Amino acid sequence: MNLNQQIPDAGTASELLASAKWWTPDGKGGADCSLCPRSCRIPEGATGFCGARKNVSGKLRSIAYGRPAAIHIDPIEKKPFAEFLPGTKTFSLGSFGCNLECSFCQNHHLSRGTFTNSDEIPYYAPDMILMSAIKARCESISFTYNEPIIWAEYALDVAKLAKTKKIPIIFVSNAFVSPRAADEIFPFVDAANFDMKGFSEEFYSSMTGGSLAPVLDSILHFHKLGKHLEICNLIIPGKNDSDEMLAAFANWVLDKLGPHVPIHFTAYHPDYKFLKAPNTPRDTLIKAKKIANDAGLRHIYLGNI
Ligand code: SF4
Repeated sequence: MNLNQQIPDAGTASELLASAKWWTPDGKGGADCSLCPRSCRIPEGATGFCGARKNVSGKLRSIAYGRPAAIHIDPIEKKPFAEFLPGTKTFSLGSFGCNLECSFCQNHHLSRGTFTNSDEIPYYAPDMILMSAIKARCESISFTYNEPIIWAEYALDVAKLAKTKKIPIIFVSNAFVSPRAADEIFPFVDAANFDMKGFSEEFYSSMTGGSLAPVLDSILHFHKLGKHLEICNLIIPGKNDSDEMLAAFANWVLDKLGPHVPIHFTAYHPDYKFLKAPNTPRDTLIKAKKIANDAGLRHIYLGNI
């Protein structure tokens, strides 16, 4: 269900280049963004790697602020969550851009989408998101479809309002965030489903353009806050489905997070730039579940089968 047409006050505004947090001037007109481990140095007039943050006259702006490219009401199981508010609806929104570039991205129309005209997407003030979620009888608000971190200024403003109505905030995220930003953002997030792309630095480097270590640090950070955490591992045949990699992932979860964190193994389909692998066979997901179970994990779910 697309709600874009149902919010009567949704206007167009070009003043929406909200001030960004988490950056410093480089002293030469450039902006050093510290929101995620990519640490972009962004020259005057340019945007960062994620496409959501732009240097305008020496100041970093969030060009995604208030501009959701997709709004839907979803079952919470679709995020996926198996053990957080089961059976409820979640008000779901996402925008353009991502701070990783996964060659196999299953949602590249948004993650690689760009803001080409600041007036193309109507502006939704944070209170409009909250009011719409309440009106639609959703029990949570999810930042999903693209990476929530890259428009965290907006997510935080929505979250602070949602707290006043006791509506939980959900992130469906790649966990590629700097420790300093995570310190400020995570306390406002009630539940997260973090992606595990593949349990090796080589996989992250070759398939996502990112790195694994900061992802693991962020997952641990969130877990230590006592928030509800689930992890999703998209299984790509021949790339991240070896017994060794799956066992290493399961053992890390058991050792660092314990046996009760829900883990989702989900099936890949060929998409975006990586079209070489076949759809993930059902037997591969069943194998992943057995390996995780043998390692001692107790809440294992399979998706897209
Ligand atoms: S959030 Fe975007 S602009 Fe900032 S460092 Fe990450 S990719 Fe670069």
